[in-house]
Amino acid sequence: MIREQRDMLVDLNALFVNQLTLLMKSAVSISGCDNVYYYTWHSDKKEYSLQKAESVKPLNVASRFTATDEIAKTLAALGQNAVVLPPASHVLTSVIYAEVSPEEQPKSLLFSAIFFNNIPIGFLLFDHSKPDFFAASDLEQATTVSELLSAQINSFQYLDLFRERCDLYSIMLEVNTNLTVAVSKEDFLTEIGRIAKYFLKCDRAVIALRQDTFGTRYIVDAIDGDPDGLEIGADFPIERTLVGRAIEKGRIQLYKPESPPPIYGIYKPGDLDDYPFNSAVAFPLTNEPNSSGVLVLEFSESHEIVDADIKLFGMIGLNLGAALNRLNMYEAMKENATTDALTHLFNSRSLHERLTEEVARARRYQSALTILFLDLDKFKAVNDTYGHLMGDFVLRDTARIIKENVRTGDIVGRYGGEEFVVILINAVADDVIKTAERIRDRIAEYQFEMDGQVVHVKISIGVAQFPRDGDTEDTLIQSADAAMYATKRKGGNDVTLYQPGMHPKYNSQS
Ligand code: GH3
Ligand code: MG
Ligand code: MG
Repeated sequence: MIREQRDMLVDLNALFVNQLTLLMKSAVSISGCDNVYYYTWHSDKKEYSLQKAESVKPLNVASRFTATDEIAKTLAALGQNAVVLPPASHVLTSVIYAEVSPEEQPKSLLFSAIFFNNIPIGFLLFDHSKPDFFAASDLEQATTVSELLSAQINSFQYLDLFRERCDLYSIMLEVNTNLTVAVSKEDFLTEIGRIAKYFLKCDRAVIALRQDTFGTRYIVDAIDGDPDGLEIGADFPIERTLVGRAIEKGRIQLYKPESPPPIYGIYKPGDLDDYPFNSAVAFPLTNEPNSSGVLVLEFSESHEIVDADIKLFGMIGLNLGAALNRLNMYEAMKENATTDALTHLFNSRSLHERLTEEVARARRYQSALTILFLDLDKFKAVNDTYGHLMGDFVLRDTARIIKENVRTGDIVGRYGGEEFVVILINAVADDVIKTAERIRDRIAEYQFEMDGQVVHVKISIGVAQFPRDGDTEDTLIQSADAAMYATKRKGGNDVTLYQPGMHPKYNSQS
């Protein structure tokens, strides 16, 4: 659908040129003049350039000329209606016909200005070789032609805007499509900022998110454009500010200096006193009260924000909200699937996955790989004596202590109830012994204190090295477990390196 609309509009320029040609041709034939020229003003280059000429007796007129102050004043004085100009000597015609020989210079000239949004943007110039050629009816005619042309330019401008909108829709479609294939949050926000800047000519785009569902504050999450004092991570109360109200009401909030809404600030109370922008719109990310956040677009210059823009960006805001929601859910799901809720370590499934990967890697690159199997000693007694809450607390702190005593790249997982496994990458067993002994000591000396009660626990550790003690994921774990159990048999609170002949508990009991 969008593609079709865009293809249909691709030839907008050609269409306009056709219309212009038609108008100018009929102007020539109705008035009977020799030539008609259409010049337009180029504000960047400060010059007029010839867009089109319809000629019966072609003359070598200037294709462009600089708009001096004198010319600008002259054009302004000529006004909206068509006027008859004195030939050649006139300041305007002297530059246009500068290259035309005196004999060829037209003796009659008719000028009429072209307006866009009531601003002169160019003119039509009719000429004829004979003097006093243009009559009053020609003036009327020329005025009508230039009015028609002005109207055409205006309507084409709207069509152009419409085309931009179509582009915007397709970009949005792309953004949303990309998002379902999980782009990063940052990419998505940058994209929104880019679209907003391009289509609304806004100078800054800010995403602010509610701290949490019942929170009374919001956080600046992303800034696209000059931060100008605003900081990512800054948090503000949800109050009667532009952002606060958009979040609270879940409705679009507009700030314009000429008709300010009754608010205390844009982001925080009082910040309007030195607000670096002229106007702002806050689009909620969900359109019900207590929205999850807002998209704020800010403008340096006074800018007419039309209803269509508000609707469009309101929609973008909601899309963004839905997308962020999906992204958060996806991340939470990923988190739930891979981590253990109590300790936040890898759960046993993802631990196995990681071990399989690491064994394959060590095999491929012949790199070192060692694992620790850790089991708290007589942990059942902790639960029995102090209750499960205390037991949970000990497990959580034990997980933390283990993590703190291995390298960042090492993988720590909860293997079972009070059993942990550490995968030490690129480490041989002898180095690992030191790490394991450190963990053993840290735990033994640690005071697990909760609600004024203090518990001491000890841990038994077994060490197995790939491929010597096991060349598959399963055999490696079994060896580490057997070594751990050997520690237990010696009374616990120690580290044992696997030796052939050691058996896991269930084997030794059988
Ligand atoms: P050993 O020295 O032989 O390891 O003795 P133990 O008591 O540590 O070993 P056992 O396997 O007999 O008991 C493990 C206990 O760990 C049983 C269970 O109550 C406790 N446990 C397992 N998972 C959790 C948990 O998530 N929270 C709490 N609080 N306790 C748990
Ligand atoms: Mg135990
Ligand atoms: Mg156990």
